[in-house]
Amino acid sequence: MGIRFRLEKIQDFLEGKAEKYGRDFRVISRWEPTSQICSNCGFKGGKLDLQVREWECLNCGSKHVLRRRMQQ
Ligand SMILES: [Zn+2]
Repeated sequence: MGIRFRLEKIQDFLEGKAEKYGRDFRVISRWEPTSQICSNCGFKGGKLDLQVREWECLNCGSKHVLRRRMQQ
């Protein structure tokens, strides 16, 4: 006794959390198109603002210059 009740409680808790995190994930995913992967070590640079043209790999320290394509 009690175990099932607890599981249901946990499920409610997790679902509530997932809903909250789901919103955050959507915010983060907006950055994905601009996230960069280091060509030197494969480290994922993470979120970068579109204004950023140069970034330094946090893992190996190599610098990368972003080349933007013309949008037409
Ligand atoms: Zn690197």
